[in-house]
Amino acid sequence: MKDLRLAGLKTTRSTIEVKGVTIGGKEIILMGGPCAVESSIQMSQSAATVKQAGGKILRGGVFKPRTSPYSFQGLGLEGLNYLVQAAKEQDLLCVTEVIDAASLELVVDKVDIIQIGARNMQNFELLKLAGKSKTPIILKRGLSATIEEWLLAAEYILAAGNPQVILCERGIRTFEPSTRNTLDLSAVGVAKELSHLPVIVDPSHAAGRRDLIAALSKAAIAAGADGLLIETHPNPAEATSDGPQSLTPEQFVQLAGELGVVAEAVNRVFACGGQNEDTLESLRTQIDQVDQRILENLAARMEVVRKVGDKKHLNQVKDSKREKEIIQRLVNLATELQLPPELVRKIYPLIFESAVQSQIKSKLVRDPEQELELAVYPIGSK
Ligand code: PEP
Ligand code: MN
Repeated sequence: MKDLRLAGLKTTRSTIEVKGVTIGGKEIILMGGPCAVESSIQMSQSAATVKQAGGKILRGGVFKPRTSPYSFQGLGLEGLNYLVQAAKEQDLLCVTEVIDAASLELVVDKVDIIQIGARNMQNFELLKLAGKSKTPIILKRGLSATIEEWLLAAEYILAAGNPQVILCERGIRTFEPSTRNTLDLSAVGVAKELSHLPVIVDPSHAAGRRDLIAALSKAAIAAGADGLLIETHPNPAEATSDGPQSLTPEQFVQLAGELGVVAEAVNRVFACGGQNEDTLESLRTQIDQVDQRILENLAARMEVVRKVGDKKHLNQVKDSKREKEIIQRLVNLATELQLPPELVRKIYPLIFESAVQSQIKSKLVRDPEQELELAVYPIGSK
């Protein structure tokens, strides 16, 4: 790609610094907000959600490039004020999309970052104009653009004099109809291999459905994304656009709480709640998350227990010798982890009991004839 004179890989990766927020550094940057700015209250609520989640940037569209001319086209300048005001209230940066020269001129000095959307990725005149500004640009990948075309679009902005470009993978059009687009996570790696520019991921426009957003966001971080752009709305059912893919505020905050461990696993950081400060609330959120993992692990144990049950005869279900061995091993582990051994001695007999019961029940469902044999080992006895 010889024409990537400015966007092509250099010895060091670029970071984009905007008012104290660094995009492309070690920290994963979360951006969020509704697809379209609809009202002042909607933006205040969205900003509070983004802040609570540890997001740094509030996003909302005021000029909407809609597929149908009859769909809501955005509030324009009025919406811009709501966006800017709400971001200010929560000490967040803000970003909005521009669709042409006029909208660029209207927003360029009012927002911290400008978005050029998928539909305008190859609007070369707009790219050149945006390149003349000093405002950082999020450049989304076009609906059917190759990575080369996307990087060359970034090159237009860089060549016009603006070095602050953030690439955004937002799903591409494929033959698969179950999602709105197909999130191309390989593009994150490829773009980072070919270019020094930061790359963020927008799972919302890729999936088009909120149930996939959490998993795709985590996958994006694991794949090397420098940030996430996620749609959230105070009341998605009432959203003027993209409601089905917008997370509720609760879902957005919960997802943010789950991103830290993924970030850490790939040597990045993401602090839910903005600061690392251990407030009572954030500590309780951590406890809730650990509790959830404990239960998920118990469920996973139960799943294996069921498989083990399939391999045993009914009279082999209870194996006291193995139970004792497990308890001894875990008591030793507990001591090593500075947990009271009593905890293992109290909890594990209950876990075994429920495992044995589940194995017996599943055998009886399949073979009620064996019910007689059960008299030998009544459920609940130990
Ligand atoms: C948007 O971000 O609201 C949007 C329209 O996205 P895209 O350009 O990726 O379709
Ligand atoms: Mn949208």
